[in-house]
Amino acid sequence: MIIQLQQGIPADLKENILQQIKAVGFKGNEVLTQEGHYIVGIGKKDFDIRTLGQLPGVADIHRVSDEYKLISRKWKVEPTRIDLGDGVVIGEGQFSIMAGPCSIESEKQIELVVQHLVENNVKIMRGGVFKPRSSPYAFRGLGLEGLQMFHSICRANGIKIITEVMQVSQIDDMMDYVDVFQVGARNSQNFNLLDSLGEAQKPVLLKRGISGTLEELLQAAEYIFSNGNEKIMLCERGIRSYENAYRNVLDLNAVPVLKAKTHLPVIVDPSHGIGLRDYVEEMSLAAVMAGADGVIYETHQKPEEAFSDGQQTVNFKESERLIRRMRQAYALRESF
Ligand code: PEP
Ligand code: MN
Repeated sequence: MIIQLQQGIPADLKENILQQIKAVGFKGNEVLTQEGHYIVGIGKKDFDIRTLGQLPGVADIHRVSDEYKLISRKWKVEPTRIDLGDGVVIGEGQFSIMAGPCSIESEKQIELVVQHLVENNVKIMRGGVFKPRSSPYAFRGLGLEGLQMFHSICRANGIKIITEVMQVSQIDDMMDYVDVFQVGARNSQNFNLLDSLGEAQKPVLLKRGISGTLEELLQAAEYIFSNGNEKIMLCERGIRSYENAYRNVLDLNAVPVLKAKTHLPVIVDPSHGIGLRDYVEEMSLAAVMAGADGVIYETHQKPEEAFSDGQQTVNFKESERLIRRMRQAYALRESF
């Protein structure tokens, strides 16, 4: 059960509501976000919710029996849109393109990618500075200094930044240089990190775990929301299967299913999803048609020389064609 409280509700009215929730055998969890003030009621007893709905200070009440509640469409039918400022909005009514290298490598590289994005009117650049690598000997990113360089070049060119945060202790240091925190597949159920990002208030792109179910992804998103941050988008990035003809299986089933279950925007990562650059375009176009709110993919001036994930990274010529075709596909989708 979700009770939406009236904005600025006096403490005594809130206390009364919490008491009444307890009286019907539910546990009340208070959630205060950038957008609203809620009480999530946890319990199983059947009762007439109108008794709570009539209490002074209650703006709205909904019964949501799923494990995830605040991110559920059962409660909020309107899709969530995330405003990054300067006219960059993610969610319903837009198709967001986020592109850039797997890893931030150098000033020159950032400049070349930024120029490519500006030329193609792409407003969000991806690029990791803290890299989760299978081998401890692989390139693990330029760290905070790399992020500061990334930030100063992007700011000067009107580009927003999405980059991965790997642990709680990095959040504060990264805060001023990031527009969207990415939670990687390996951290999809790092509940301490999710709790802290809930308190951080910045937009978060939450990736599906390597073997994560949609239910697990949705509950992970609930961690962020229930800690006070509604600015969440979900990302399908492929799941591990027995098939080894490609790196992962990009589960496009997830797109319409997630969009039915949650009001949050759904983004697709075809680069990690298939892991082979030759097929990134096909999977991106399929993602558009499946109803994705955006695509995040890897591009680099010389993919063969990329420090990480070169095999799934497209060059600028391929990227330009991909951008053009995704926009055409989105226009077609909107015309249906
Ligand atoms: C990445 O975006 O470069 C990355 C490491 O992604 P994932 O967490 O999906 O593997
Ligand atoms: Mn990568």
